[in-house]
Amino acid sequence: MEKNLSKAFLKTSFFSAIILLIGYAATKHSSTKKMEIATDWRHDYHSFAEPNNAVVKHLSLNLNIDFEKNILSGFANWQIEKSADAKEIIFDTRDLTIEKITLNEDSTPINFELKSADKILGSALHIPISTTTNSVKIFYHTSQNALALQWLKPEQTTGKQKFLFTQSEAILARSWIPCQDGPAIRFTYDATIYCPKNLMAVMSVADNPQSINASGEYHYAQPKPIPSYLMALAVGEIAFKKINERCGIYAELPMVDKVAWEFADMGKMVDAAEKLYGPYAWGRYDVIVLPPSFPFGGMENPCLTFATPTVIAGDRSLVSLVAHELAHSWSGNLTTNATWNDFWLNEGFTMYFQMRIMEALYGKDYSDMEANLCVQDLQNTLKDFGEKNPDTKLKLDLKGRDPDDGMNDIAYNKGYLFLRLMEETVGRNLWDEFLKSWFAAHQFQSVTTEDFVEFLNKNLIEPHKEKFSSVNINQWIYEVGLPANATTINVTRFIEVDEQIKNFTTKNLIEKTVSKNWVTNEWLHFINNVPEKLSEKQLDNLDAAYHFTGNSNCEIADAWYYLCLKNHYTKINSAMEKFLCSVGRRKYLLPLYGEMIKSEDGKILAHQIYAKARGGYHSVSQQTLDELLKLKK
Ligand SMILES: [Zn+2]
Repeated sequence: MEKNLSKAFLKTSFFSAIILLIGYAATKHSSTKKMEIATDWRHDYHSFAEPNNAVVKHLSLNLNIDFEKNILSGFANWQIEKSADAKEIIFDTRDLTIEKITLNEDSTPINFELKSADKILGSALHIPISTTTNSVKIFYHTSQNALALQWLKPEQTTGKQKFLFTQSEAILARSWIPCQDGPAIRFTYDATIYCPKNLMAVMSVADNPQSINASGEYHYAQPKPIPSYLMALAVGEIAFKKINERCGIYAELPMVDKVAWEFADMGKMVDAAEKLYGPYAWGRYDVIVLPPSFPFGGMENPCLTFATPTVIAGDRSLVSLVAHELAHSWSGNLTTNATWNDFWLNEGFTMYFQMRIMEALYGKDYSDMEANLCVQDLQNTLKDFGEKNPDTKLKLDLKGRDPDDGMNDIAYNKGYLFLRLMEETVGRNLWDEFLKSWFAAHQFQSVTTEDFVEFLNKNLIEPHKEKFSSVNINQWIYEVGLPANATTINVTRFIEVDEQIKNFTTKNLIEKTVSKNWVTNEWLHFINNVPEKLSEKQLDNLDAAYHFTGNSNCEIADAWYYLCLKNHYTKINSAMEKFLCSVGRRKYLLPLYGEMIKSEDGKILAHQIYAKARGGYHSVSQQTLDELLKLKK
C-alpha cells in the first residue's frame, strides 16, 4: 500500500513513542529520538513527567484523613520502570509538602528537588534514582487548599456530618497524590485509608466497603491500570444500597432510598451498554451521590461514578447522567485520550454512547430529545465563542493553558454530532462493528486523535469509500465551527412543545393540560425556546401557571432563572440566591453569574450572592467564578 511521506513519518514517530512509553528497549533509542517525541502530538504539555525515561507502574497509597486540619497525610509508594540510563524520575505535585523520600526497602531518606511552582502545572518533583531503584516512597501531606479536595462542614451536607471528596480531572490529582499526572500514564493501585470511626471511605475500585467499619481503616485494590485523573476518594457518613448483583448506590444516609429509586435502571443500563460495545471490564459498577457542592454533573471514576444530587429529580427524568458516566467505562476509562488536546475522544464518544444507551432503554424519541437539546447548547456555545475561534476545533491546542479551558460543549456535542454523522453515513450495523473493534483494539490504552483518524481511515473509510464521498473528516476534526453537513435532529415530542410556544407567543395562551405529562427535556425545550425578550406580565403568567421559581428540578429552575435574568425579571432573586447557595454544579453557576454581570444592578447582585456562596463551592467552580467576577485568587 502506498503512503505519503508525512503519514509515514507520523507512523514511525507514533511507534517509537509507544516503545518508549512502555519503557522497553529505551537504551536503543538515541536522544534525538526522544527529542522527536517531545515535539510530536503525543507529548503531554500538562505534566512534568518524562515517562520515556522513568515511569510509574503501581501505587500503594497510605493516607490518614484529618478532618480537624483538613489535610491528608501519609505516603505514596510507587513501583517504577525505567530506561537503563535513567538518572531521575519526575513527578507532578501541587501544593504538597514533601516530608521525606526513600528508595526500595531502604529507610534512609534521600535528597530530592522540588522545583518552584508553575501557576497551572504546580511543582515538578525530581527524585534521583539508580539502576537498582524499583520503588520510590514519598512521605507527604496535602495543603489545606489542595485543589482536588473539598472538605465539607456538617451544615453543607444532608446528613449534617463531615464530608470529603476529590475531583482529580483534569490535572488536580497532583494536589493530593504526588503522581505522573498525565492521561497517557497508567498504573494499578492499592490503598489503605484511615478515617474517623463513624465514617466510610470509598475509592475508584470495585471492592469498596458496603458498611461502616468500626475501626475506620479501609483497604482497596484497583487491579486494572488507570490514569491518575481517575484517582478518587470520598469520605462521609455514607450508606450503600444494592440495585442488582453488580450494581449499587452509595449516598449520605438520609438520601439512600431516594437515590436507589431514582437509579433503579442502572443494572439495565450496564446490560444495554455491554450489548453495544462489549463486556464491562471493571467488575462492579456503583454510583455515589455526593453533597450538592460537587462541581460537575458526574465524574466517571472507575467502578464508582461520582454524581451530583441535582439529578435526583424524583421522577427519573435526569438519569441520562448515569448512562453518560457508565459509557465512560469504555470511552475514557478503557480507551483514554492521550493528552487533553484529544479530550473529544473521551467526551464526544461518551455523548454518542450515552444517547445509544438511552435509546436502548427508553426509545429513540426520548434519546433524540436529549440529542436535540445538546445541539441547541452547541449552537449557543458556537455563538458565544465565535465560529472562527480555534477552541471550536475538536482537536484542541491547550499548550500553556489550563486543560479545563477545553472542557466545554465543543468536545461533547460537536464530537457527538461527528460520530452520529459517521453512523448515518455508513449505517448502524457497520458503525457498531467498527466501534466495538476500536474499543477492543485499544483496551487500557491511551490514544490520540491521530490514532483514531488512522484507525477510522483504514477500517471504515477505505473499505466504504463511496459512502464517504461527501464527508470531510479533517474539516470536522481540525477546522473551526460546525460543518454544514451536521445532522438535523427532528424530535416528534417537541412538535407539541413548539405548538405551545407558538400559542403563548402569539396569543398569550397557556394550556396547562397539554404539558401535564411533559418530562424535563420537554420543559427545557419550552423554556429555552420561548422568545428571548418577554414582558414582566408574560413572565408572571408563565410562573403562575408552571411554578418555575423555586422548582425542585434543578435543570428547570436553572433554565428559568437564566431566561428571567435575560429579561431583568427580579422576582426570582431570592429563590435564585437560595439555588446558587445550595448547588455547586458549575454547569448552573457559570451561565447564571455570567448573565448577572452583564448589567450594573446584576453585577452587584452577583457579588452579593457569590460572597455568601463561594465558601460552599469546590475549587474547580471557585476558580472559574473568581475569574468571571474578576476576584483576586
Ligand atoms: Zn463525560
